[in-house]
Amino acid sequence: MIIDWTTIDTVLLDMDGTLLDRHFDDHFWMEHVPKTWGMKHRVPVDEAKEYLYSLFRSQEQTLNWTDLDYWSDRLGLDIPLLKLEVEHLIAVHPGVTEFLAFLRLHGKKSWLVTNAHGKTLNLKMKKTRLGPSFDGIISAHDLGLPKEDLRFWGRLHEKIPFDPARTLLGEDSETNLGTAAAYGIRHLIYVSRFSSVIPPTPSERYRSIHYFTELLPA
Ligand SMILES: [Mg+2]
Repeated sequence: MIIDWTTIDTVLLDMDGTLLDRHFDDHFWMEHVPKTWGMKHRVPVDEAKEYLYSLFRSQEQTLNWTDLDYWSDRLGLDIPLLKLEVEHLIAVHPGVTEFLAFLRLHGKKSWLVTNAHGKTLNLKMKKTRLGPSFDGIISAHDLGLPKEDLRFWGRLHEKIPFDPARTLLGEDSETNLGTAAAYGIRHLIYVSRFSSVIPPTPSERYRSIHYFTELLPA
């Protein structure tokens, strides 16, 4: 894919699914939490899944969705502790380290911009050591709005400098690319291979990649 890097000076990157394998998050919420919750309440795992999946859906597109304290309270489980049990599944997607090194070498500002909760961020940065690669890390929980909210990007702009017309956003959420587009962020890239275990489907609305190395000059 041809990207004219002279027209871009800031790169905003989502974390889960975009830089890191979403298999960790999918497995954690869809399998590990229901199994643990089911054991605690002596409920078969299928019933636990049915109950918990609808509970999760009820908080979609809100900050509660990624708020570990909210889910610890709501489910009566120590969610951060449970994450440690499957932390071996936390993995950086292929090509990410190379891409971040390219950005640094060419003087592009790079920001990690995530809906993830501070406790998730800490665990993942500790495990992957990606933190120092960025000019900064912004959690939606610090801005009080998720990226799905149209007002998010304006609020981000109050916090960090970027020219929307000269900014590239990488995301595995078409919804979030949509709110960013509405704000005027120009270069929008959809990561279709967000999980190592789910076959990728390209977006019909946005330029799609499997790996960030596809954006590097040949
Ligand atoms: Mg994501």
